[in-house]
Parts: sequence; structure tokens; C-alpha cells
Amino acid sequence: MRIVLVGPPGAGKGTQAAYLAKNLSIPHISTGDLFRANISQGTDLGKQARAYMDAGQLVPDEVTIAMAKDRMSQPDAVNGFLLDGFPRNVGQAEALDEMLKSEGVMLDAVLDLEVPEDEVVKRIAGRRICRNDSAHVFHVTYNPPKTEGVCDTCDGELYQRDDDTEETVRTRLEVYHTQTEPIIDYYRAQGLVVTISALGKVEDVTKRSMEALKKDRED
Ligand code: ADP
Ligand code: AMP
Repeated sequence: MRIVLVGPPGAGKGTQAAYLAKNLSIPHISTGDLFRANISQGTDLGKQARAYMDAGQLVPDEVTIAMAKDRMSQPDAVNGFLLDGFPRNVGQAEALDEMLKSEGVMLDAVLDLEVPEDEVVKRIAGRRICRNDSAHVFHVTYNPPKTEGVCDTCDGELYQRDDDTEETVRTRLEVYHTQTEPIIDYYRAQGLVVTISALGKVEDVTKRSMEALKKDRED
């Protein structure tokens, strides 16, 4: 399956993607995680992306699209993928469509995670991620690690993302509304959008997502 996850920052895309990717046997591709890996490795790409990320702005399309295409063309993504954080504007959605068209394949669904803004702010404020792997995500109250500051999965150090500050979160939410939300209408016109509530326990949201994707395939 080829799936795009959309939803505001802090909606739980990364958290859900980890489970959904496992259940569906497809790789979880997060452009945010790819940028953060580049930053921690000190690559040129990381240096280019950092200022935009710290400011809560989108990294320019030419950099982002090239990185996403490169990742999607790896052997593990030949039969499907779960995109998290890409596309993030209509230009990126069009580039993705072109890429898929040239390969003679299509998206199966766009899963839209709906969460009220006050909840998103609480989720972001308490988010802690692992230095070894930013796909290992915790929350100080909603999903606390067994030992404070230590990743349950790999014993890595947990930290707060540089862009999870109150001011940057405000910018990121605005960027989401103005630049990313329009892709929902773009995909709705293609009949691809399934919207679910991402409120409630992580496992309940996963169940809801799996049911919505299954129903979408049957329709
Ligand atoms: P996104 O990838 O959409 O930015 P994350 O998956 O990183 O969001 O989740 C943001 C924060 O919310 C994390 O700290 C995560 O542990 C927490 N979280 C995710 N899903 C839920 C949920 N269903 N209920 C409560 N907290 C959640
Ligand atoms: P995320 O981990 O998805 O919350 O993304 C963190 C930050 O990485 C965003 O605020 C952007 O600065 C950058 N980023 C991630 N994905 C994209 C994308 N598709 N286009 C542009 N910037 C992105």
C-alpha cells in the first residue's frame, strides 16, 4: 500500500506510523526524521534544513522533494510506503503524483488525523524523542518512558526537539493551516482522503486507522 499521513504537528503521525507501518509491512518514511538524522550527522543537507526547521518554516521544496524521492526509490519502498510529513504543500503533492505516475503506480489512501488545536499543543509540549532514533517517541504524561529521560526501546537519551518551543509551535500550526491543509482538498478531489479522530488511546487510534484503511480498500 502507498499511504500519506496528514495532520497538524503533534497529531500523532509518527506514533501511529510506527504501528501502521509494522502492521502493513511497509517502511515508515518521515521527512522530519530524515532531516533530523542529517542534522545529527552534520551533512550539508542537514545544514541547509536546520534554520528553516528551527524557525518552524518548511524546508524549500527542491531540497525536500529530492530527499523524499531518493528515500522512496530505495528497494524497501518498491511495493509501498507510509509517508509521514510529506507532502506538506500542493507543489510537493504534485511532485509526488508525477513521480508515482512515471512509475505507473498510485496512492491508495490519504489518512487525515484530526485533533483539536489545544490537544495538539499539549502533545507537543510533552513530547520527548530518542537521540538514537527519532521514531522512538514518548510523552511526559500521556506515554511516559519506564525510566525518566531514557528510551524504553533502545536505552537512548530522550530530549525535547529544538522546534517544540511555544513560539515555534505557533508558527508550525500556522504553516500547517496555510500550506499543508490545502493538500487535503487536493487529495479529496482524487477521492483518496479518509479522516479519523486521533483522540484517545494510541492503540485505539491505530485500530481506527486500520479499520478506515481496510474500509477504504473495500469501497
Ligand atoms: P506528529 O508526528 O504528528 O508530530 P507525534 O507522533 O510525535 O506527532 O506525537 C506527538 C506527541 O503526542 C508525542 O509526545 C506522543 O507520545 C503523543 N501522542 C501521540 N499519540 C497520542 C495519543 N493518542 N494520546 C496521547 N498522546 C499521544
Ligand atoms: P516533523 O518532524 O514532520 O514535525 O517536521 C519537522 C520540520 O521539518 C518541519 O517543521 C519542517 O521545517 C521540516 N520538514 C519536514 N517535512 C517537510 C516537508 N515535507 N517539507 C518541508 N519541510 C519539512
